[in-house]
Amino acid sequence: MALTGMQIYKNLPKTNCKDCGLPTCMAFAMQVAAKQRSVTDCPHLSSEGNSALSEASAPPMKLVRIGAGDKIFELGQETVMFRHEEKFHRATGLGVVLPSSLSDADFASKIDKINKASFVRVGATLKVAFAAVELDGAADPAARAKTAAEKSSVPIILMGKNPDSMKKAADAIKAARPLIYYADKSNLDAFAAMAAEMKLPLAVHGENLEELETMSQQAKDKGVEDIILAFKGGKHADTIRNLTIARRAALKKQFRPFGFPSMMECEEQNPEMETIMGAVYAAKYCGIVLIRGMEPWELLPIMTTVQDVYTDPQVPNTVEVKLYEIGSPTENSPVLFTTNFSLTYFSVEGEVERSKVPAFICVVDTEGLGVLNAYAGDKISAEKVVKALAAQKVAERVKHRKLIIPGLLPIFRAEIEDTSEWKEVIIGPENAREIPAFLVKNWS
Ligand code: SF4
Repeated sequence: MALTGMQIYKNLPKTNCKDCGLPTCMAFAMQVAAKQRSVTDCPHLSSEGNSALSEASAPPMKLVRIGAGDKIFELGQETVMFRHEEKFHRATGLGVVLPSSLSDADFASKIDKINKASFVRVGATLKVAFAAVELDGAADPAARAKTAAEKSSVPIILMGKNPDSMKKAADAIKAARPLIYYADKSNLDAFAAMAAEMKLPLAVHGENLEELETMSQQAKDKGVEDIILAFKGGKHADTIRNLTIARRAALKKQFRPFGFPSMMECEEQNPEMETIMGAVYAAKYCGIVLIRGMEPWELLPIMTTVQDVYTDPQVPNTVEVKLYEIGSPTENSPVLFTTNFSLTYFSVEGEVERSKVPAFICVVDTEGLGVLNAYAGDKISAEKVVKALAAQKVAERVKHRKLIIPGLLPIFRAEIEDTSEWKEVIIGPENAREIPAFLVKNWS
């Protein structure tokens, strides 16, 4: 939150000593408020004044980092309630819980599965963000934590209520900066002490918002710097309402106990419901969502929701207008065209890749609209396609003059053939998913 000159002035020595190069403390305060000077330019600022100004000027929601080295996940420092107000800054990380009941072999195998869970969608690679290791009930919690830290390609969340197990596990992998999940009123003193001592992030949980506020404040008072507000259990409607209240209090009222990112542990017995609620909590407003399922059908709906919700609305959803090479196309490879709307382009690109037929894709500028919308909005025409083919020098890349056009635009065929060198226009499929069969059948 930006401080006013008067708020800054109140914390200055008010001696007008001029050592900062300005005639008065008020002049200095005004320049700090205008971001022309830093408070550290005053050599006489007391430690109380310094911490008061640092605290007051801190962002309404803290940035929290989990992990270390090349395995770091950042969450928090969000600024708005609704994406259209600006944008959401840090996408939700999806974590998979590894139960303590797993055998060592199954535990290692699940970590391997987490590492390999990777999906390409709309040009982005979607992956699991956390391995969440259940400690209570494990024969050797420290060994479990070590195995996870060594074998996992993602940051670790240590899950447990028992302070002894947590301490052994956290101590064993503190260099990896795991998240300690979670402290409540039964173990806050012990968990906060170890988080503060090892400088680890700590999740705190309360049965209601009042208790959560107390847990957060007490953890901070005990020296924990990186806090995450943990939600779990209860009715979904109540939890969503509480998540919204906490975020609003942080962003709109600068209510410091809630000025941290939040997370949700989904505990649905029904796997379909777990996936549905995981997606809901990613949208409302959890920086981390924990689930137990790890099949692609369980992960992908949540990842897809995260990708959609956290897309930056300030960045046009388009790809560069140019000729794309899929595989290693030759002078005999097929040529297709599509629009520069990301979703359309990446759908076509993915299906061409799947066909294993190397090809050229000529992208036409439709101002970010898909095929039908572009046609309806007069953003694409046969003439525009012909111009794009010429501008991208496609004819120099192939010796044939066959052009595959989207099945939704058959009306373009005659005009392209009549007005360009592309004398054999082939009407392709209406849906991208039909491209592989189409190419294999028609381009051998
Ligand atoms: Fe005031 Fe500090 Fe500047 Fe002195 S150096 S005038 S105390 S702001």
